[in-house]
Amino acid sequence: MRFSQSFIPTLRDDPADAEVVSHRLMLRAGMIRKLAAGIYTYLPLAWRSLRKVEAIIRAEMDAAGAQELRMPGVQPAELWRESGRWEVYGRELLRMKDRHERDFCLGPTHEEVITDLVRGEVRSYKQLPLNLYQLQTKFRDEIRPRFGLMRGREFIMKDGYSFDADESGAEATYRRMEAAYHRIFATMGLNFRAVEADTGQIGGSFSHEFMVLADTGEDDVVFCDACDYAANREKATSKVAPPERRDTPAAETVATPGVSTVDEVAAFLKTTPDRLIKTLVFEVPAESGKRYAAVLIRGDREVQEVKLNNLLGEGARLAEPADVARLTGGPLGFAGPMGLSGLDVHVDRTVAGVTDGVTGANAADAHLVHVLPGRDFPLGDLVDLDGARAGDGCPRCDGGTLAIRRGIEVGQVFMLGTKYSDAMGATFLDPDGKARPFVMGCYGIGVGRTLAAAIEQNHDEKGIVWPMPIAPLHAALVVMNMKSEALVAAADALYEALGAAGVEVLLDDRPERAGVKLTDAELLGLPILLLLGDRGLAKGVVEVRARAGGETREVPLAEAPAAVRGMVEAAGGTIRGG
Ligand code: ATP
Ligand code: MG
Repeated sequence: MRFSQSFIPTLRDDPADAEVVSHRLMLRAGMIRKLAAGIYTYLPLAWRSLRKVEAIIRAEMDAAGAQELRMPGVQPAELWRESGRWEVYGRELLRMKDRHERDFCLGPTHEEVITDLVRGEVRSYKQLPLNLYQLQTKFRDEIRPRFGLMRGREFIMKDGYSFDADESGAEATYRRMEAAYHRIFATMGLNFRAVEADTGQIGGSFSHEFMVLADTGEDDVVFCDACDYAANREKATSKVAPPERRDTPAAETVATPGVSTVDEVAAFLKTTPDRLIKTLVFEVPAESGKRYAAVLIRGDREVQEVKLNNLLGEGARLAEPADVARLTGGPLGFAGPMGLSGLDVHVDRTVAGVTDGVTGANAADAHLVHVLPGRDFPLGDLVDLDGARAGDGCPRCDGGTLAIRRGIEVGQVFMLGTKYSDAMGATFLDPDGKARPFVMGCYGIGVGRTLAAAIEQNHDEKGIVWPMPIAPLHAALVVMNMKSEALVAAADALYEALGAAGVEVLLDDRPERAGVKLTDAELLGLPILLLLGDRGLAKGVVEVRARAGGETREVPLAEAPAAVRGMVEAAGGTIRGG
């Protein structure tokens, strides 16, 4: 590709409305332009990368036994009424009428269409399993489209759907897709984790989200440094080491005048927060006014909101001080499990390991010391309410430590079960001739979001630093001085030779100053940078620099094509015809 003849409208300055790096850099690198909120044109450079992302996805899906097809983007409302989602999908579903006043929508996802297709064609268990996918444009009328390709309204998705005869077959398919997803994102050169996820709106029984780790991600990913344990923060759990074991004499009440927070109490009683047992009273909205419940958790741990809502019901929040006083007998900060009655008490698992503990005494200015959980108050069925923290032990393996990073959801796999086949009467005949619903799974990857996430993860202050496998091209060849005819001729020859070696090169042959071209080359972020100047030409060498590392070496012109090709291959790039 010759820059002088390409459509790569780079921008010198940061666009005003771009909040995240990938959005900013894709605009500046001339990769995307906005048509309307959340609706973008992919310019040639972006399109080249998107096609590479798609090619990697296709290769792995095909290898895993899935077959590509293509369904319509416009879908009739009847199918959505059958599945029950016409009413529940909400305003993200862009609805419209045709000239006959019939309802249609722009497909945000294709469970209905594929289920309709398969129920019409597949009669027998002998035709199963079936795994179908497409790469296609989706439309979701997001409330807040933002961050460029990260959260668009119109976007490209790979969506796949599987049909099996029974649960165990469906689970095997699910595992195969999960493994294919691991290979897909690894092949792209991305640092990612697969986390256990909630099944949310789409429904179904289990699910994993694939998260690209990047500081600008919207979700917190908790993962182990030793094994493959990873979970969203809302679901994550951990091994929490108990405080050092101590003998616990009989509990006694001590005065703690005006001392109520965990840190104050620990300091006043000369102990540590991990020996304190917090008693938190929550109120939960209920049909007849409010319900109250108490939660016990170790002083140095926090109650996780999502887990709390799962346990007590949506909308749980800390009770008002007056209610705490009425329910426990003591002011806020002095509640405790001993002598507490009339309230459901849930004990977090972190409390179980505490010895020689401290609790509130349900009276003003008093605490109980030498408290032993299980002896002095019942533990009941332990619950898991605290959030995992960086540095906690891994809940799955021995010796692993948890870390927390931000993540961007680029893909999700769902075990759907029979949700859609039941709703839409999609059945096949089993070996006994009995009609049974298909057991389904669905598998999505955001193609544009993956590209944006790759940039979020791979950039520096100068621009994009593409991972080789999804870079628009492998290398940029910058001609430092277009006024030198000898240099231009040598650059042309090198460009041809690189092309013949299968290397994708952007030849910067624009009549610009060298500095401008270098700035653009770093902005575009092609993985290999070749600088050809008069001085190098005199020596018969070209400067070769890796965009990521920055180290430069001089390579004899004749050796450059093979050397660059080697660099491309070593970094996981695909050589044309290679
Ligand atoms: P989110 O929670 O981010 O809105 P989702 O969980 O609703 O996404 P899925 O239904 O799981 O999305 O869709 C599969 C994939 O499609 C997602 O993992 C994501 O990569 C991509 N995707 C979803 N919504 C968008 C969007 N508005 N813009 C770009 N990509 C998207
Ligand atoms: Mg999702």
